[in-house]
Amino acid sequence: MESFFDEAAMRRAIEAKRDGRELEPRAWEQMLCAYLAGRVDDAQMAAMLMAALWRGLSVAETAALTKAMVESGETIQFPAEIFVVDKHSSGGVSDIVSLVAVPLVAACGVRVAKLSGRALGHTGGTIDKLEAIPGMRTDLSREAFVAQVERVGCAIAAQSERLVPADKRLYRLRDRTGTVPSVGLIAASILSKKIAGGARAFVFDVKCGAAAFMQRVSDAEALAHELVSVAARFDREARALVTDMNEPLGRSVGTGIEAIEARDLLRGEISDARVREAVLSVAAEMLAVAGIAQPQSVAERALDSGAAYEKLVALVEAQGSSRAALEAMRRPQREEEARATRAGYVHAVDAVEIGNLARAWSERESSAGVVVAARIGDRIERGDVLARGYGAAADATMLTPCFTISDEKPEPRPLVYATVSG
Ligand code: URA
Repeated sequence: MESFFDEAAMRRAIEAKRDGRELEPRAWEQMLCAYLAGRVDDAQMAAMLMAALWRGLSVAETAALTKAMVESGETIQFPAEIFVVDKHSSGGVSDIVSLVAVPLVAACGVRVAKLSGRALGHTGGTIDKLEAIPGMRTDLSREAFVAQVERVGCAIAAQSERLVPADKRLYRLRDRTGTVPSVGLIAASILSKKIAGGARAFVFDVKCGAAAFMQRVSDAEALAHELVSVAARFDREARALVTDMNEPLGRSVGTGIEAIEARDLLRGEISDARVREAVLSVAAEMLAVAGIAQPQSVAERALDSGAAYEKLVALVEAQGSSRAALEAMRRPQREEEARATRAGYVHAVDAVEIGNLARAWSERESSAGVVVAARIGDRIERGDVLARGYGAAADATMLTPCFTISDEKPEPRPLVYATVSG
């Protein structure tokens, strides 16, 4: 797009936003274009981001920014006759939902095209977890990605640098200037990547709690509403769940160790109620946006019959690995146990610290990490196992302080706080 934005126009726009005025959609488009072309510098863009964070963006403004971001790079297109769904999590610890829900939904006959990122801070990245499966490729070309979704029913690929390059520039600037936690800016960042990925419908899993971007339910709900409202402006069906992230979602924390848990959940070999509920809630919403009736029971059947596991094998084989490689994955033999030093109820679990430890331990040994034995609310006795560390670098003494034990039983927390649909 041709942009007439120069330093003076940008200053006027910053002043307008600073004073709480809504900017025209065209202003957002031209401003981004000028920034990417170097006619607006980081100082002015940082001031605009801070004004946007303080004053907020209207749905129309977020949509305009999203559109400009999508147009900054390549996009993926699926043939009009196929309906493709994508899901996105705002990031958590032991969040294995994508690894399970993608093949599960595909096994129900709905195509899933998932573009994923890598680990960020204490949170894990689906791409790192997948790459822990020996032989697995995630750098699919646009053509290979589209072809695999058509042929196999699902694909999970790393987001190419050529998709929404504006997000990378803006995110770096937001990170440097303390302007990440703005509902409008987060929504534009997430949605631009999803829209460029070509899916027709999305499900957003907005995490909320001590180990999430959004710590308060009200903030997470605001983001969920914004994502759904802005998606509607692009003619995309969207739903959002607000889910708990005050402790690791699954039992395993790491890269390969999470892939092992996802595999075992799909094979029916483990039945952790919380992670199963998370997977089925997200999968049911993905089926619902694709128009499938009774989505919850359809999803349960695909999970329990083994059909979803077979779809995971098909995905893994299509992306360069094999059933044998997936099934041969094991946790490291070296194991250290962290035990409770007193009796009581588990009051808090420091998922951020556990995420950081698991990430450090699995840096050189991809299947290393942590398996959490105690959940918030569990009654434990002195000497009970709280968690196990796996791998050469694992150190149980660093895990014990991650668990707070008290005499009072904490109030139970739901897994799903809210569901938002258009
Ligand atoms: N995830 C994103 O992709 N972008 C943000 O701004 C925040 C979380």
